[in-house]
Amino acid sequence: MTSVHCYAQQQKNQNRARIIITDVPKTKTRDKNNQEKRKNPFDAKFSMKSLEEICKIGPRISGTKGMAKQQALLIKHFEKLGAKIKKQSFQERHPITGKMVTLTNLIVQFYPKKKKRILICTHYDTRPLPDSDPDPRKRTGVFLGANDGASGCALLMELGKHVKSLGGVYGIDFVFFDGEEFVYQRPRDPLFRGSTHFAKQYAKQRRIEAANPAKKTDEPIYVCGILLDMIGDKHLDLYWEKNSYNYAETLTRSIWNVARQLKIKEFVPKIRHEIRDDHLPLNEIARIPTTDIIDFDYPTIRKSNKYWHTTMDTPDKCSGESMAKVGWVLIEWLKIAQRQQEKK
Ligand SMILES: [Zn+2]
Repeated sequence: MTSVHCYAQQQKNQNRARIIITDVPKTKTRDKNNQEKRKNPFDAKFSMKSLEEICKIGPRISGTKGMAKQQALLIKHFEKLGAKIKKQSFQERHPITGKMVTLTNLIVQFYPKKKKRILICTHYDTRPLPDSDPDPRKRTGVFLGANDGASGCALLMELGKHVKSLGGVYGIDFVFFDGEEFVYQRPRDPLFRGSTHFAKQYAKQRRIEAANPAKKTDEPIYVCGILLDMIGDKHLDLYWEKNSYNYAETLTRSIWNVARQLKIKEFVPKIRHEIRDDHLPLNEIARIPTTDIIDFDYPTIRKSNKYWHTTMDTPDKCSGESMAKVGWVLIEWLKIAQRQQEKK
């Protein structure tokens, strides 16, 4: 992903784009009394172990053996959980060699028969080089992507255990986007290749269905999307991201409301950054209202984003507790989403 602006203070009179789709779970009604006694069911240790396991593979650059190993690890894990797995493969030109490379979005489905679905996604490729390292000699070194890559995967590996028993009206898809940053040189090399391909395919399918309303298909309708990126930082700071707020205000607020009810203070309901990330193709091409949960102050607000795209993005900068906080919010949010729709 890439940053556009940092908003030190939330600005008044922001340009609020209309919310495109209103069919988003809302979270106004809650029984507050039960919340305080609740224990976080998300296994922080397992998610940290998974993050370390993924990083042990080494870099997971699109089209490499490292990426193939990670795919195998994820497929094995989610098959064990009983999920249905689809590979969405496509060809892209390698930015350096010019040869065609196969990129693959991994789609992990829970309750695959349900037409209306919630999309939870992350990118799983790692940036080829730590090109923002403060030491210029290290910029051609190894980029491990513990937070920027592995954390989203590790969180979803644990979350899968919880969603498989949630029930409810919506199906749930975890989508692992390839080619988020198959980038050797900016601005030459495009970002978001996997999510753009996914969004285009989805938009095409929706057009086909709109033209033939009588014909039933198994293709999903996504009611909303949640993107996870850099959520493993030991010092977690999760602000509203500006594009997410503009495209999916209801959804964004509903997630931060759940965090408030759980007293998870790391979720701060204020806009801080404007970030271009995989949620843009989902909002703009697929028209799925999607929010980006991202900590773009890695390690801390005071120290700014100095580990981002550097050799310092390693597992010791991450924690299972941070992933567990995000995971708990998602579990509770999903429970409410599933339950509220049932009442309608
Ligand atoms: Zn990145």
